[in-house]
Amino acid sequence: MTVFSAKEFDNHEDVLFFHDRKTGLKAIIAVHDTTLGPALGGTRMWNYESEEEAIADVLRLSRGMTYKSSLAGVNLGGGKSVIIGNSRTDKTPELFEAFGRAVDQLGGTYIAAEDVGTTVPDLEIARRATPHIAGITEGNSGDPSPATAWGVFHGIRAAVEFELNKTDFTGVKVAVQGLGNVGYGLCELLKDAGAELIVADPYDAAVEKAIKNLGATAVAIDAIYDQNADVFAPCALGAILNDETIDRLKVHVVAGSANNQLAEDRHAKMLMDKGILYAPDYAVNAGGIIIISHEGPHFNREKAMQQVAGIYDTCLSIFERAKQERVTTAEIADKIALERLERVRNEKAELALAS
Ligand code: NAD
Repeated sequence: MTVFSAKEFDNHEDVLFFHDRKTGLKAIIAVHDTTLGPALGGTRMWNYESEEEAIADVLRLSRGMTYKSSLAGVNLGGGKSVIIGNSRTDKTPELFEAFGRAVDQLGGTYIAAEDVGTTVPDLEIARRATPHIAGITEGNSGDPSPATAWGVFHGIRAAVEFELNKTDFTGVKVAVQGLGNVGYGLCELLKDAGAELIVADPYDAAVEKAIKNLGATAVAIDAIYDQNADVFAPCALGAILNDETIDRLKVHVVAGSANNQLAEDRHAKMLMDKGILYAPDYAVNAGGIIIISHEGPHFNREKAMQQVAGIYDTCLSIFERAKQERVTTAEIADKIALERLERVRNEKAELALAS
């Protein structure tokens, strides 16, 4: 089992392993970078095949959070935690309290939130043991999904304007993969703006609702890649942009909420070569982290949502720079995120020297 020599290790600041004898909690918290602020990232509960897999996941995801917050202009660092276990059978209130105590040991360097396999109520239990939990209670920012959907909507708006030269959605066909918390909310926003919807989800009730309430056309799960649409919006799974699916896509734009959409980095180039504009996932889906960054005694939803809408400008500047530099939009997103980190690091170093 390796950490420092794992290929996902990227000079992470802290990687902490926690075990609680009483509840059987096995958790890993990774703090990638706190240059911009305390490391914030979700808590994933997953039945990992091996500890190596859990370590790789927490290292990769925490690094991703650093890039996401940096690009979004948010003053938060990157972190993530994983609980090793089956989220259907292994959850107990005591386990999440023990997890809360683990988070508390970092004294605020890491702030946890919900993620795959955990829910807002789980994190509310963890909150009994630590104040360092975000994205939970209403009155604070609550469920981040509506903000994420709002951000994805503005990312798509930027892409449609840039690629199709259209400043509104009238007649724009969007194929949405996944009608969950984000996907369905996105469909509502698109419908209101005049778009035509093509949808796919294995969950029949969500599909029926989209047909009935939003006039969507439903297609079989796998057929979503073959649609004659303007935009493909992946809002379900990761790694869905791969050799097989990219070959089938007939759209001009890919922009959606799913994390880690590219199966491999090289798939960004494959999309570019095919003339498809890819809006980098972590630029587009930053609405949740943006709204969480506004949490506090003076939380103002309207102001937070205005900043989320700024994803439109972030995306446009990525598209323009990628065009100028003739590289992929994914490369430019990484560059912009790293440039901000570097700038703040240098400013901090100068301040430290001066004091
Ligand atoms: P969710 O679990 O509410 O919804 C996912 C939906 O995808 C479900 O309806 C599910 O039935 C459907 N689905 C599963 N497999 C599918 C398939 N093969 N084809 C089509 N649909 C399929 O999740 P969510 O909160 O809406 O998040 C969606 C994606 O966005 C995830 O990748 C998540 O990591 C990412 N994301 C979410 C947020 C947020 O604020 N919720 C923030 C950033 C990123």
